[in-house]
Amino acid sequence: MTDTCPAIRVSEIFGPTIQGEGVLIGLPTVFIRTGGCDYRCSWCDSLHAVDSQFRHEWEMMPIDAVWQSVVGLSGGRPVMVSLSGGNPAIQPFGALIERGRGEGYRFALETQGSVVSDWFADLDVLVLSPKPPSSEMRTDWAAFEACIEAAQQKPQIVLKLVVFDESDYAYAKDAAALFPRLPVYLQPGNHTPPRLGNEDAPVDLDGIIKRMEWLVEKVTHDRWFEARVLPQLHVILWGNRRGV
Ligand code: SF4
Repeated sequence: MTDTCPAIRVSEIFGPTIQGEGVLIGLPTVFIRTGGCDYRCSWCDSLHAVDSQFRHEWEMMPIDAVWQSVVGLSGGRPVMVSLSGGNPAIQPFGALIERGRGEGYRFALETQGSVVSDWFADLDVLVLSPKPPSSEMRTDWAAFEACIEAAQQKPQIVLKLVVFDESDYAYAKDAAALFPRLPVYLQPGNHTPPRLGNEDAPVDLDGIIKRMEWLVEKVTHDRWFEARVLPQLHVILWGNRRGV
């Protein structure tokens, strides 16, 4: 056990369902979504794990309780566990990962790469998702590189970039050029994310598909043959519904 703080701030634990995006798309997964984020992206699709308005829904759960929940959901069969948020990098996951991997489970972290933790090297997959200009956030590339270094070349590391417009696309290309050895996954942004108090409002699927088509055209026109373009499968299947 490597953590001094044995509790994790949890927004929700759910699954198994399929991973809806990026390198693990389609893979059955149990999700641990943590509460709290150092960012506030303009189009955040997980505000219930970010906005302090939802703080009453978050729970400080001991590692053991989090683990029992994961085991219960998976029926005790090892499954991919996705640590998402919010920004799960700010939580003390080391002991949980150590325990889970000892039982055959695998762990993927989804983070914007703004906060480093010493347990990154214990992951199986590190998904770094720097936020493009449309998010209205600014990337700290030094912190981002520190995240890669902390992984010590142990987990698989991939870049995942949300693209809404031309400047996001240019940002994605720049990010890929900065880290040429990392596989790149691009996905069209959802401009109809869940809104506070109106989580069930429909998504503009036609608009998202049009952006996907535009993105495919951009990548092929530019002969950016290393990039992979994927939709958010869960948005196509379930819109903005939580817990799937
Ligand atoms: S980093 Fe992710 S969870 Fe945090 S505000 Fe941005 S989109 Fe939301």
